[in-house]
Amino acid sequence: MKLHEYQARDLLARHGVAVTGGRVASTPSEARKIAEELGGKVVVKAQIHAGGRGKGRLVAESETAAMFQKLTSDPANNAGQVKGDRVGGVRLADSAQEAEQAAAAILGRYLVSIQTGPEGKLVKNVLVAEQTDIAKEYYLSAMVDGGVGGILFIASAEGGTEIEQVAATKPEAIVRMPVDPAAGWDPYIGRTLAARLGFSGDQANQFAKLAEGLYNTALATDASLVEINPLAVTDGGQVVAVDAKLSIDDNALFRHPDLEELRDRDEEDPLEVLAQDLGVSNFIKLDGNIGCIVNGAGLAMATMDTIKLAGGEPANFLDIGTVNDPQRVVNAIKVILEDENVEAILVNIFGGMARVDIIAQGVIDGFKQLDIKVPVVMRLVGTNLAEGEKLIDESGINVVRTSELGDAARKAVEAASAAA
Ligand code: GDP
Ligand code: MN
Repeated sequence: MKLHEYQARDLLARHGVAVTGGRVASTPSEARKIAEELGGKVVVKAQIHAGGRGKGRLVAESETAAMFQKLTSDPANNAGQVKGDRVGGVRLADSAQEAEQAAAAILGRYLVSIQTGPEGKLVKNVLVAEQTDIAKEYYLSAMVDGGVGGILFIASAEGGTEIEQVAATKPEAIVRMPVDPAAGWDPYIGRTLAARLGFSGDQANQFAKLAEGLYNTALATDASLVEINPLAVTDGGQVVAVDAKLSIDDNALFRHPDLEELRDRDEEDPLEVLAQDLGVSNFIKLDGNIGCIVNGAGLAMATMDTIKLAGGEPANFLDIGTVNDPQRVVNAIKVILEDENVEAILVNIFGGMARVDIIAQGVIDGFKQLDIKVPVVMRLVGTNLAEGEKLIDESGINVVRTSELGDAARKAVEAASAAA
């Protein structure tokens, strides 16, 4: 689950990370009021679940795709500005009145950045924060890294730009430092990171405190990623977080009911939201045309690979889990049918603890309850296979059956292209 910047910075501040003063606003007049409280010199920032806002552009809903095209093909002449005529998603304002104008230019419009995709994102809120006089920009993040088996810090003195670009063109400018999960935080980690970024004296202390705050935030929220880009050194020599990004591991959310409340469903894929509501929690929407219903995450990955091998494109990743509940299958079909790109469905079930007959019953129920117009290919093997096949035969539903995955994938690809 991603958080908005204004939510992330609140959490970071609670763990001792230095952030600027500021609050979220949903109307221009509210933005003006906050700017007045902060002394007038502020930055007004679109709150959406995507980065690249500063260089993004604000347009009407009908213009998002064209703007995305312009931004990706010719960024130099189209990218948004923090100050100037080309209004971007991050605006510097030098008075409360300018803040109100900036908010009016941002709110209710669609922000298109290289990260939003051609649909852009509707801006419902802006963060109004104290303006920082930035002397130098750094990059700092802490993420759960499978390779190191714990939290890994990534930092760079080449902040402000895309960290991926730094990694590609100047890999030596990236500092990596893992934290031993058994030992936990140790002050030497902050000191070492600070030294490797070139900080000394009081700034090194400020930086180390901030890094510790980042680590504590990550730990306390079960974050998969906490990222500060840019981390700024101000003209006055203060080290402060100017941007904040925080993603929480969905599988840990049950431990954080207070964080669950921060979820902004408008920002999430509508199909994924529907899937969650229907208890099909392991669903990720993709761009292809073959809907997949599979039990087991590994098998779901293998199914996607096999579809690709057969020349097709999966419309989703879907793991129904090990549940013996026909309704779960019906719900999975329901979610897949909501995707208008889907031209065939591939059901791939390897019955272990899950029983083939129960899954088969789910598909039969699906045909009864839903309006399934696309061809359905079923590959069934494992526990209670004979019972499952008997159920399908007796039900008379129109499905293609096979016991081999490669064959199933080819048949699904064929069925989808015939439907197209
Ligand atoms: P992003 O583009 O979505 O990553 O949004 P950021 O919050 O990182 O803002 C984009 C850029 O705007 C930053 O890299 C800064 O260079 C600039 N910016 C943001 N806030 C301030 C500020 O308070 N003062 C100044 N001078 N620049 C800022
Ligand atoms: Mn940023």
